[in-house]
This record gives sequence, structure tokens and C-alpha cells, in this order.
Amino acid sequence: TDQDMAALVAGRVLDVPDFPQPGIVFKDLMPLFADGPAFRQVVDGIVAHHGPDSFDVVAGIEARGFVVAAAIAYATGAGVVPIRKAGKLPRAAYSASYSLEYGEATLEVHQDAFMTGQRVLLVDDVLATGGTAGAALDLIVQANGSVAGFSVLLELGFLEGRKRVAPREVHAVLTV
Ligand code: AMP
Repeated sequence: TDQDMAALVAGRVLDVPDFPQPGIVFKDLMPLFADGPAFRQVVDGIVAHHGPDSFDVVAGIEARGFVVAAAIAYATGAGVVPIRKAGKLPRAAYSASYSLEYGEATLEVHQDAFMTGQRVLLVDDVLATGGTAGAALDLIVQANGSVAGFSVLLELGFLEGRKRVAPREVHAVLTV
């Protein structure tokens, strides 16, 4: 059930105060990634939520989103497209800049990352203010992808990231 899935995440996240800067509580999901059976269940739960045939590729946001994206891709036979921090992609890329909970950032995706209309499931580890996800969704659209859904393992509800991503829907395995 959704509650079982939420409990798997809740039991495998560590709060790290004042990382990467004072006042931020970093939600470290490495214990979930490191627990094979739990991680597999959560990945399968995300796939079941959207439907295994509802997307063609999984886009993951650097760096922890890559872990989730690759697992979903392997589980479903979909491909993976990395959405990377500025300056990392080797070929012509689209860029989107945004502000986040702890600073400013730019994301990029290769201009030929998607075939026109290809259905893209976007995933990341944590939804905080929603700036990152908003920029990633903009990039998918700019690169002619069709957004099929967006999932995160953990949503920080009080930061109201959903509002920044609206009207697109957010699927969060756990919201705190
Ligand atoms: P935001 O753009 O504010 O929604 O931030 C989301 C992005 O930054 C995601 O890629 C997260 O991995 C990372 N992030 C932001 N805040 C946190 C946090 N408190 N704990 C862990 N990751 C975070």
C-alpha cells in the first residue's frame, strides 16, 4: 500500500542538520538506496503508481535522481535521460536556471535527448522548493518531450514545492 511505501522511506532517511549550509536539514536517502529489498519495493511502487506502460524514458536529476531513474528504467525496459548541472553535458544542450533552498543553479539537457512526443517520467530524490523540478520539467518540454509524470521519494511539504510545479502533479512516496 501507499502507507507501506511511505514507511519504507520514512525508516530509511537520515536528517543531517546544517548541511550543506546552516539552517538546512539535509534529507539523506542513502540508507534507502543501500537497502536492496526496500529500494526495489519503492521503485516498483513508483512504477505501479504511474503504470509501467505510461512512459518511454525516465529522466533523472543529477545526482541522486540518477539512482532512482536508472532503477526504474531497468525495471521497466525504459531508457534513461540525465538532466545535469551546468557544464557537464558534452554536446549542445538546453539550459534552465532557478533558485533553490540553498543557492542558485542551472540544469541542462541535451537538445536531442528526446524524440518528439516521447513520454518522459521525471524523478528525483527530494522535492524541496520545487525550483529544480520546475526547471527540469521546462527542459523536458523545451526538448520536445511529453511529461508523463513526476515522482520524488520525499517531499518537504512545508516548502510548498508543489505550488511551483503546478499545474503538473507531484507523486511523492513520502511527504513530511
Ligand atoms: P528544490 O529545487 O528546492 O526543490 O530542491 C530540490 C533539489 O535539491 C533536489 O535535487 C534535492 O536533491 C536537493 N535538495 C534540496 N533540499 C534538500 C534537502 N533538504 N535534503 C536533501 N536534498 C535536498
